[in-house]
Amino acid sequence: MRPPLVVGLTGGIGSGKTTVASLFSQAGVPVIDADELARELVVPGEPAFDEIVSVFGTDLVSPCGMLDRSKLRALVFRNATKRKRLEAILHPRIRCEMERRLSAINASYCLLVIPLLFETDQVELVDRVLVVDAPREQQIRRTQGRDGVTRRSVEGILRAQLSQRERLERADDVIRNDSDLAHLEKQVQALHGRYLQRSGGDLPGRNG
Ligand code: ATP
Repeated sequence: MRPPLVVGLTGGIGSGKTTVASLFSQAGVPVIDADELARELVVPGEPAFDEIVSVFGTDLVSPCGMLDRSKLRALVFRNATKRKRLEAILHPRIRCEMERRLSAINASYCLLVIPLLFETDQVELVDRVLVVDAPREQQIRRTQGRDGVTRRSVEGILRAQLSQRERLERADDVIRNDSDLAHLEKQVQALHGRYLQRSGGDLPGRNG
């Protein structure tokens, strides 16, 4: 079995990565999402949960015993040392699980959703980079609409991330999410066709 063509999907906060990934998934494309893996890795009983609690304290555990991820995010956001410690716990595990899932894929191409693809030097994991690009103002409004957070907090995250210009310079393909969902769907369909062609594939699994 040939390994699948791996398309790395990235973009800034609220740019539409999850929405785009679900459209590819609806078309039958296997999707591995780094954020989803990170969530799965910190449930009680997982080694990463114990490690995080022992390093950052039991204050981060909610009354129902789960890790309070937004509290953790806020804790590390303004403290580079703490952020590095958290990354040292999470990143190798996420990467290992991503590679395990990639090796089990039986399809001509797949999507790897990595929000911080460039910031965390993971480009070598992917064959092509697909950037979702949205106007900054829309990123802010959509994130606020989804999470009910302040404009200031979204702007703070945007400042900490790579600029869209830097992302676009390193993109092989771009989806512009500056209109409605139909516009997004059209672009996903076009790219899906190109990726199938490029990977010589028929989903699911060109061998099966
Ligand atoms: P994050 O980086 O925060 O995980 P994301 O890049 O995955 O965000 P989404 O969650 O896909 O972004 O989109 C942000 C919000 O905007 C969601 O509520 C989503 O439903 C909405 N949204 C995305 N694209 C569109 C669109 N074209 N039209 C209307 N709403 C949209």
